[in-house]
Amino acid sequence: MRAIRRFTVRTALPAPLAALGRLAHNLRWSWHPPTQDLFREVDAAVWEQVGHDPVALLAEVGPDRLAELAADEALVARVRAAEADLDTYLTEPRWYQGATTGWEGGGPAAIAYFSPEFGVTSVLPQYSGGLGILAGDHLKAASDLGVPIVGVGLLYQQGYFRQSLSRDGWQTETYPVLDPAGLPLSQLREADGAPCRVSLALPGDRTLHAHVWRADVGRVPLLLLDSQVEENDPDLRATTDRLYGGGGEKRLLQEMLLGIGGVRALRLWSRLTGAPAPEVFHTNEGHAGFLGVERIGEALGAGLGLEAALQAGRAATVFTTHTPVPAGIDRFDAEQVRAFVTAAVPAVDGDRLLALGAEDYPGGQPGIFNMAVMGLRLAQRANGVSQLHGDVSRGMFDGLWPGLDADEVPITSVTNGVHAPTWVDRRLDDLLQETAGAYPTRHVEAWAAAADVPADRLWEARRAMRASLVAEVRRRLRASWLERGASAAELGWVDEVMDDGVLTMGFARRVPTYKRLTLMLRDPERLKALLLHPTRPVQLVIAGKSHPADDSGKALIQQLVRFADDPAVRHRIVFLPDYDIGMAQSLYPGCDVWLNNPLRPLEACGTSGMKAALNGGLNLSILDGWWDEWFDGENGWAIPTADGVEDPDRRDDLEAAALYDLVENQVAPRFYDTGPDGAPPARWLEMVRHTLSVLGPKVLATRMVAEYVERLYVPAAASGRAVAAEGHAGARRLATWVEHVRGGWGGVRVDHAESVGLTDDPLLGDVLGVRAYVSLGSLAPEDVEVQVVHGRVTSADELVATGTVRLSHVEALEDGRHSYAGEVPLRRTGPVGYTVRVLPRHELLAAPTELGLVANA
Ligand SMILES: *Cc1c(COP(=O)(O)O)cnc(C)c1O
Repeated sequence: MRAIRRFTVRTALPAPLAALGRLAHNLRWSWHPPTQDLFREVDAAVWEQVGHDPVALLAEVGPDRLAELAADEALVARVRAAEADLDTYLTEPRWYQGATTGWEGGGPAAIAYFSPEFGVTSVLPQYSGGLGILAGDHLKAASDLGVPIVGVGLLYQQGYFRQSLSRDGWQTETYPVLDPAGLPLSQLREADGAPCRVSLALPGDRTLHAHVWRADVGRVPLLLLDSQVEENDPDLRATTDRLYGGGGEKRLLQEMLLGIGGVRALRLWSRLTGAPAPEVFHTNEGHAGFLGVERIGEALGAGLGLEAALQAGRAATVFTTHTPVPAGIDRFDAEQVRAFVTAAVPAVDGDRLLALGAEDYPGGQPGIFNMAVMGLRLAQRANGVSQLHGDVSRGMFDGLWPGLDADEVPITSVTNGVHAPTWVDRRLDDLLQETAGAYPTRHVEAWAAAADVPADRLWEARRAMRASLVAEVRRRLRASWLERGASAAELGWVDEVMDDGVLTMGFARRVPTYKRLTLMLRDPERLKALLLHPTRPVQLVIAGKSHPADDSGKALIQQLVRFADDPAVRHRIVFLPDYDIGMAQSLYPGCDVWLNNPLRPLEACGTSGMKAALNGGLNLSILDGWWDEWFDGENGWAIPTADGVEDPDRRDDLEAAALYDLVENQVAPRFYDTGPDGAPPARWLEMVRHTLSVLGPKVLATRMVAEYVERLYVPAAASGRAVAAEGHAGARRLATWVEHVRGGWGGVRVDHAESVGLTDDPLLGDVLGVRAYVSLGSLAPEDVEVQVVHGRVTSADELVATGTVRLSHVEALEDGRHSYAGEVPLRRTGPVGYTVRVLPRHELLAAPTELGLVANA
């Protein structure tokens, strides 16, 4: 029989233990091992049984055990101390509180961070993969740094699916229903106790209501909207039933609830708690882009014109794009967007709305509303998530800035990072701490201590971490086989699976095609030979979920599972179903090598390799995403890419062969190159130490969040204040000016440019004088910037590696013509060249390239 409703009954905590409830409801426990120890002490067996879930633990433990604990003075004292420690963490000044005094006008009072998924801990399963885990790590690092962020997302009643396997290795999905009362959440309520509601008007006189829940991620509140509201029609109630469940209208409703509902939830939050209104809105990928439309609606309501409202919203918005894969971008039918979004935000004109998401550039599709395109148009600042991805994004979206070369498209990059306290194994952390004398995951400099950890201690810690993974693999594999229909009696072999002395490689990620889960199976005999090598064997742990609608991904999983089921190799290669944060936390520390073989350049950043690196794992990866940026020859290996080979099969063959060669000839020999008497392999450990000390500080989420703050949030807050001051005078001025400049741009051109004062035989260090004559038509000199762009020239006369110098206005000539002059010092030898161009200029633009207007000579 199935229950039609479920709820959670718990014992009231005795007064001396009341703080346990608070400790369970602030997710800081998830990255704070001492708090986890305390929960384990409440009841070790139940703690294991509930999968390390404090809220579930406190619901399971009976009154007798609680009474016993309440009488244990030592324990009660530790509970109190843990609460005091949490209070200190929540209130003491941290990095941001010190840094903010150095920024003009101070840092933003609050920053809203929108994401369709948040992966904070496995007990709050509201994520599918990298995007969500990154969002979780962003909040945690912001908390550690004291950055005043508020997260905004949706609460999915069934989260993402749990993955299991059928007997023949096909992925099957189940959707356990979550009871919010059993999650570490509290509901936003009005003063009279009634649940707060956010509502969106829909076409046909319908309304979508949502409740708002709050999770505490350390110092950071995370607001989650939930459509399970009695008053909703049944179909609307299902809006937030699953993460990425369904397309079309349902997906649109989810994104409207996230973006439009999310802004309304923030207003509610400020009203209830007095929290400052966000000065910056950051949207993690395009899914939350309607937040900009809602804010335009708010500004229209406050009496601004449409263009001024647009400028007011853009100034304070940051957009992060996460994917160079077109399928990763949401696109809707434009007329559907018009009908739905104008119902919810009636102040916004439908045509103007559709123009925001229109693919009105070469190669775009008419009638489509593209969320990434809208995201870029509604944010004055945008970024990709690694240097390479920044590059790829500038090329991918250059149609939005016609006239600019791709490398000047105003999309910057901030390379992702990972939250060390969540991902570093405690044994390694303790070892580094012992050596550094400081808590290394929080103090960047302390990663340097890895260089001083004695080889035998480091090797021993690595082996212990590997051994834990071996035990975990056997446990999970047994459970998986029981689910696949095997009987316990047939599973004796599982106890022999993997070996804690064997070189262990990991590969885990979602299974879209570009990640090439099965590249390692390209030549099965070669893989077998590596696994079964008589003296230098390799063992492989693999995991990953395929999107439920993606049968080709499921077929890849099946191919891999079938290979791993073979009794000849099954002790050396395993596929573990249901990859999640919990599994990941034992997987990264236990792997000596982390494998990643995407189709370059489709991996925007990738973060799993960073988590491996923080545990002393070495990366073996295609030079894509972050690895392209930080591989230095000593922190792992680069799999050569067959860039330019058109035939995908041949490309896979070449790259797979390179992978086998590397493992056989470099990775395994170095790992097994132990000294006399089994002394640790010195050169391997050198690479491990180098990885920890050099890569460690770079891959931290605290580094990433600090970069977002300094390079994007603080400037966005300054822009936002500048346009908002004096009743949005700046926004009106900027809007009028943009219209004026767009209208007059047709009359702008470079008439003539000449160099002066240069001999026929210029030498390094000489100065190139440039004089330019430009026509500005109806525009004034203060509306523009005239630049010399100089750099190396290729044989095709293309300028590369350019720099720019601004020319000064010399005099106004007749008919709107002006002369400009300036100097360029020659700082490079070889073929160089220059050109002159005119760009718009206004102090409220983030960059002169922002409008995509340029007049080249
Ligand atoms: C880190 C992580 C990911 C993302 O890994 P990528 O390398 O970015 O693909 C996905 N799922 C889980 C559970 C993770 O911990």
